[in-house]
Amino acid sequence: MTGATLLFAKALDFAARKHVHQRRKGESREPYINHLAQVSRLLAEATGGRDAALIAAGLLHDAIEDTDATLAEIEAEFGSDIAALVAEVTDDKSIPWVERKRLQVKHVATKSKRAKMLKLADFTSNLLSILESPPADWSPERKRHYLAWARAVADGCRGADATLEEGFEAAWRRCADKYGA
Ligand code: ZN
Repeated sequence: MTGATLLFAKALDFAARKHVHQRRKGESREPYINHLAQVSRLLAEATGGRDAALIAAGLLHDAIEDTDATLAEIEAEFGSDIAALVAEVTDDKSIPWVERKRLQVKHVATKSKRAKMLKLADFTSNLLSILESPPADWSPERKRHYLAWARAVADGCRGADATLEEGFEAAWRRCADKYGA
C-alpha cells in the first residue's frame, strides 16, 4: 500500500465517523460524507492525484467546523501540513454567521494556493447540491444570495487552479440560469 492510499483510507474513515449523524441540507438529505467525497474527488481530478495531502484535506475540511474534531486531533492523526490546510478553510464559529461570511470574502485572496483550491472545490460541490437537491426552505432570494457570495469568494481564488475554476464557473452558470442570479 502506498502512503497516499493509506492516508486517503485514514482520512475517509475519520471523516465518515466524525460526520456519521450529519446529512446535507438539500431536500434529498444526502449523507454528509457525499459532500466530502465529492470535494476530495474534485481535488484529486484537478491535481491528477498528485497532492495526496490536499485530497485528504478535502475529506477533512469540515471536520473542525461541523464536528467535535479539534485541530490538535487532526494534526496528531494526519500531520501539520494537512492540519494547516484544514485550519485555513475553517471559519471561527465564535463570530456571527453574517460576519464570518464577510470575512471569508475579505481574506480568501490572502490564503495559500491549496486553500483556494479547496475553497473552489467546496463551493463547486455546494453549487451542484443546490442544483440537484436544493434545501426545501431556501427561497429564490436566498439561493441568489448564496450565488453572489460564492462568486465573491471564488473571485478571490483567481489563479489558483484552472481546472477547479472552470468547474466552479460551469456549476455557477447552471445555478444562475436556473435561479436567475
Ligand atoms: Zn464543505
